[in-house]
Amino acid sequence: MHYRLPDSEMPESPNEIKKTPAVHLLKCSYCTTEYSAEGSAFRPFCCERCQQLDLRNWLTESYGLPFEGDGARELEPDDEWDD
Ligand SMILES: [Zn+2]
Repeated sequence: MHYRLPDSEMPESPNEIKKTPAVHLLKCSYCTTEYSAEGSAFRPFCCERCQQLDLRNWLTESYGLPFEGDGARELEPDDEWDD
Protein backbone atom coordinates (compact mmCIF):
# COMPACT_ATOMS: atom_id res chain seq x y z
CA MET A 1 0.00 0.00 0.00
CA HIS A 2 1.55 3.23 -1.15
CA TYR A 3 0.85 6.75 -0.11
CA ARG A 4 1.28 9.36 -2.73
CA LEU A 5 1.46 13.06 -2.09
CA PRO A 6 -0.36 15.24 -4.55
CA ASP A 7 2.06 16.88 -6.92
CA SER A 8 0.90 20.31 -5.88
CA GLU A 9 2.43 19.86 -2.44
CA MET A 10 5.86 18.92 -3.62
CA PRO A 11 8.45 21.56 -2.77
CA GLU A 12 9.79 22.24 -6.21
CA SER A 13 10.54 25.90 -5.87
CA PRO A 14 14.27 26.31 -5.23
CA ASN A 15 13.88 30.07 -5.52
CA GLU A 16 11.88 30.07 -2.34
CA ILE A 17 14.61 28.46 -0.28
CA LYS A 18 15.91 31.16 1.97
CA LYS A 19 19.61 31.62 2.21
CA THR A 20 21.00 31.18 5.67
CA PRO A 21 22.55 34.42 6.83
CA ALA A 22 26.31 34.48 6.63
CA VAL A 23 26.50 36.39 9.88
CA HIS A 24 26.25 34.18 12.91
CA LEU A 25 24.52 36.07 15.65
CA LEU A 26 25.29 35.58 19.29
CA LYS A 27 23.70 37.15 22.31
CA CYS A 28 25.77 39.27 24.61
CA SER A 29 26.03 37.72 28.06
CA TYR A 30 25.75 41.12 29.65
CA CYS A 31 23.27 43.27 27.74
CA THR A 32 21.71 40.48 25.61
CA THR A 33 22.25 42.49 22.46
CA GLU A 34 22.70 40.35 19.39
CA TYR A 35 26.03 40.70 17.71
CA SER A 36 27.97 38.93 15.00
CA ALA A 37 30.30 36.31 16.32
CA GLU A 38 32.82 36.98 13.58
CA GLY A 39 33.01 40.67 14.35
CA SER A 40 33.57 40.53 18.07
CA ALA A 41 36.79 39.95 19.91
CA PHE A 42 35.00 40.14 23.23
CA ARG A 43 32.89 37.03 23.17
CA PRO A 44 30.68 36.17 24.91
CA PHE A 45 30.12 39.89 25.07
CA CYS A 46 29.19 42.24 22.25
CA CYS A 47 31.81 44.84 23.06
CA GLU A 48 34.64 45.70 25.37
CA ARG A 49 32.36 47.79 27.56
CA CYS A 50 30.09 44.86 28.38
CA GLN A 51 33.10 42.67 29.00
CA GLN A 52 34.53 45.15 31.47
CA LEU A 53 31.22 45.77 33.20
CA ASP A 54 30.47 42.11 33.59
CA LEU A 55 33.95 41.42 34.86
CA ARG A 56 33.60 44.22 37.37
CA ASN A 57 30.26 42.90 38.55
CA TRP A 58 31.73 39.48 38.93
CA LEU A 59 34.66 40.81 40.94
CA THR A 60 32.50 42.94 43.20
CA GLU A 61 30.17 40.07 43.93
CA SER A 62 32.98 37.65 44.52
CA TYR A 63 35.03 39.77 46.85
CA GLY A 64 32.38 42.11 48.20
CA LEU A 65 34.34 45.12 47.13
CA PRO A 66 32.57 48.45 47.05
CA PHE A 67 31.65 49.57 43.59
CA GLU A 68 33.59 52.74 43.04
CA GLY A 69 32.79 55.46 40.60
CA ASP A 70 29.06 54.84 40.72
CA GLY A 71 28.17 57.78 42.92
CA ALA A 72 25.42 55.77 44.59
CA ARG A 73 27.24 55.18 47.82
CA GLU A 74 26.56 58.38 49.65
CA LEU A 75 24.61 56.93 52.51
CA GLU A 76 25.70 58.04 55.91
CA PRO A 77 24.28 55.83 58.65
CA ASP A 78 25.35 58.35 61.26
CA ASP A 79 22.42 60.55 60.36
CA GLU A 80 19.97 58.04 61.77
CA TRP A 81 21.41 58.40 65.22
CA ASP A 82 21.13 62.13 65.24
CA ASP A 83 18.01 62.25 67.42
ZN1 LIG B 1 26.69 43.80 25.35
